[in-house]
Amino acid sequence: MILESKERSAPFFAARRERLAERLTDEPFDAFLITEMANIRYLTGFSGTSATMLATADDSWFLTDSRYITQAHDQVAGAVAGVHIREYSERLEAVASLVKETGVKTLGFEAQQVSFAIVEEMRVKFKGVSLTPAEKIVESQRLIKDEPEIEAMRSLIGMLVKVYPEAENLIRSGAVERDVAVELEYRLKKVGADGAAFDFIVASGERSAMPHGVAGAKTIDDGDMVILDWGAKGWGYYSDTTRVLPVGKVSEELKNVYKIVLEANQAAIDSVRPGVALKDVDGAARKVIKDAGYGDNFGHGTGHGVGLFIHEDPKVSWTSESVAKAGMVFTIEPGVYLPGKGGARVEDMVHVTRESCEVLSLRLPKWSL
Ligand code: ZN
Ligand code: ZN
Repeated sequence: MILESKERSAPFFAARRERLAERLTDEPFDAFLITEMANIRYLTGFSGTSATMLATADDSWFLTDSRYITQAHDQVAGAVAGVHIREYSERLEAVASLVKETGVKTLGFEAQQVSFAIVEEMRVKFKGVSLTPAEKIVESQRLIKDEPEIEAMRSLIGMLVKVYPEAENLIRSGAVERDVAVELEYRLKKVGADGAAFDFIVASGERSAMPHGVAGAKTIDDGDMVILDWGAKGWGYYSDTTRVLPVGKVSEELKNVYKIVLEANQAAIDSVRPGVALKDVDGAARKVIKDAGYGDNFGHGTGHGVGLFIHEDPKVSWTSESVAKAGMVFTIEPGVYLPGKGGARVEDMVHVTRESCEVLSLRLPKWSL
């Protein structure tokens, strides 16, 4: 695992910072203040929860408080080559003096991350520096995953594959949804996950008609179709997949719904290649469902990016303006939900390759009719 080795991961972090530096030469500010922890982790490997970065086209600084300074020296890859580590007692004061020291006149900051109150405080503390809101600078880099990221997500899906037979045993008539969710979280930790990627959805019977039904106190009954939406967390990354498991004899109507969703999932996967508009990937899944007469029962988008956030860009929906590019990782998760009866969703994670895509979750079994 590249991310577990400082030596092996350092070149990747350095390359990411280099790409950022290149990007910053085109921005209308001298330095960029990074406060989003996922972005800081992406650029340095630091897994703590409190730090700030200042990056210019030629240099970068990593600032944290005394609680994290040892961890910072240990983790911030390439500390020798290019990132200056500093300890602070008051964050904005430290940034202000660094800004002054480096002669920064215009400072970009992450508009979606910094609160209005902090901006007001910055105006006072950074006198004479003009503040420029910027959007998705590091996030746009994060769209294209590099080798350690793909490897991490592949391993996180591997954990699901390992635990899946136990999910099949646990999901049976008489079991309580919430117990299944708790048990699966425990099993994933046992095989190496840091934890659950999110609150698992174990939605059975009528409850499977709720796209986000979490896991409740309901007992799973004979004849239920159960939606299991689950994922593992580790190395800062996530996996996110959904499978439908039948319990006993499922009605023909629900079986048919599942079959349509499975076809929609495959149609969307088949459409993925570099250059395709993601709204057309959504369209490929939607067409199958519409043609089968269930267009009104598929209300959500087809997928979302996964990486250092469980939900990140790109969006795969009818409003998406993104185009698939090699290195992107996103989900394909069409669903059909019939209120009062039940529903189905099938979710895979795909990695866009140079010709088409690799289904990262291919080895996670699917109920075949
Ligand atoms: Zn999911
Ligand atoms: Zn998802």
